[in-house]
Amino acid sequence: MQTYPDVKLFINGEWRDAIGGETIPVVDPATEEVIGKIAHARKADLDLALEAAEKGFKVWRDTSPFDRSKLMRKAADLLRSRVEPIAYMMTREQGKPLAQSRMEVMGAADTIDWFAEEARRTYGQIIPARFGGVQQMAIKMPVGPVAAFTPWNFPLNQVVRKLSAALATGCSIIVKAPEETPASPSELIRAFVDAGVPAGVVGLVYGTPAEISEYLIAHPVIRKMSFTGSTPVGKHLAALAGKHMKRATMELGGHAPVMIFDDADLEKAIEVTALAKFRNAGQVCVAPTRFLVQDGVADKFTEGFIKAARALKVGNGLEDGVTMGPLANERRIPAMEDLLHDAVSSGAELKTGGKRIGNKGYFFEPTVITDAPISSRIMNDEPFGPIAIINRFSHYEDAVEEANRLPFGLASYAFTSSVRTAHALSRQVEAGMLTINHNGLALPEVPFGGIKDSGYGTEGGSEATEAYLETRFVSQMS
Ligand code: NAD
Repeated sequence: MQTYPDVKLFINGEWRDAIGGETIPVVDPATEEVIGKIAHARKADLDLALEAAEKGFKVWRDTSPFDRSKLMRKAADLLRSRVEPIAYMMTREQGKPLAQSRMEVMGAADTIDWFAEEARRTYGQIIPARFGGVQQMAIKMPVGPVAAFTPWNFPLNQVVRKLSAALATGCSIIVKAPEETPASPSELIRAFVDAGVPAGVVGLVYGTPAEISEYLIAHPVIRKMSFTGSTPVGKHLAALAGKHMKRATMELGGHAPVMIFDDADLEKAIEVTALAKFRNAGQVCVAPTRFLVQDGVADKFTEGFIKAARALKVGNGLEDGVTMGPLANERRIPAMEDLLHDAVSSGAELKTGGKRIGNKGYFFEPTVITDAPISSRIMNDEPFGPIAIINRFSHYEDAVEEANRLPFGLASYAFTSSVRTAHALSRQVEAGMLTINHNGLALPEVPFGGIKDSGYGTEGGSEATEAYLETRFVSQMS
């Protein structure tokens, strides 16, 4: 029998209630039942977490990269061994089908392993000197205690990249995990605790997001922050980080273009993009959003994509065979309805879906619209839900112009059998990530991040640890 736990704060090596005893309820988005509660941290709790992070940093900075790496690998193995209970918690709190929750847990363990390996490769440099007897060294040191703020769409995956990069480089970290989906990230922290991470190295808090971020980012103990969420909130927090001279990584919103050319393998394009569009009910920052399809294949692509959308089985993610769960919280339903209403009243055609399903649980039909004018809100604001927009284009230049029209620049997709087209796209599409003829995004070993209003910094690949390191120079004469 699987259970859903009440969730506590983790401060200075202890699981504890909030000092003021406040809690926040957790709701299952498939049933609207209250399934548990979490401790709500206020400033007094944050002060304890900061004091612990400051002490923990000194211990962890001086722990050898080899030992950090070993501990991280142990945490990854513990996480794998607990995949079933953690996946159950994730599906209950977030809604995604169990198979997707299991994948997220296993993926998180892979991410920890990748960063555990990187821990042993934070190389500096010896710089040849101008004068005899001088040794010049550039050394990499951990930046210090980190504050991380993560959203509810991937409760584990969004935490694990920040946590693993911080721990690999010798930083301590306070994670403000999502209040809507608190139990699975707390199990991630537990894996590190059970693997033996020293007190103060990792802290976990929940509460009122704005209150916690304003306090932690401004606090002198915190040396770096990392945020994943919407662009407006990201801009606000980036300004705050700037004001207090804190390093920042920003993983913000997107509005991914999908360019499908006349020479594409259509069957593959439909299969890959329908899977990516409706995964996690479309609540993914890299989800395909603006489908731009060349005239010659537009009708066939649209027909195939609608068929794929209709074939999805929407329901409670705990049930067998369900391929799309509910939206993660109640406010996503009016968000979808408003965007669709605006699109259709400005001339878009609703091809399938478009409505909430039932009145219990936040279920929404997989939806396809076509011919949305570029002035409609949905062509400009991130829908962050199960809505695909299919528009047509005639020439390569038109597709690239539309792909680059928005201030966002996170993910982009293209399908073409022309090497020339693929090569041109790789230089001309303004996006942090471009995947051509398949979905190759978000593996631990490849860069993950946006440009323009989608943020800065990468949370994957060998560059990801750089954000947590500072370069110091030492010149020494014998
Ligand atoms: P929201 O903007 O209120 O919140 C998004 C996330 O940011 C949440 O996790 C929230 O707790 C956090 N947040 C909000 N204000 C904060 C603050 N001042 N300090 C620290 N954290 C703060 O929106 P929402 O209704 O939860 O989600 C809707 C929108 O958020 C979506 O349309 C999407 O654009 C964005 N979002 C993006 C991601 C992503 O992976 N990039 C994930 C979840 C949500």
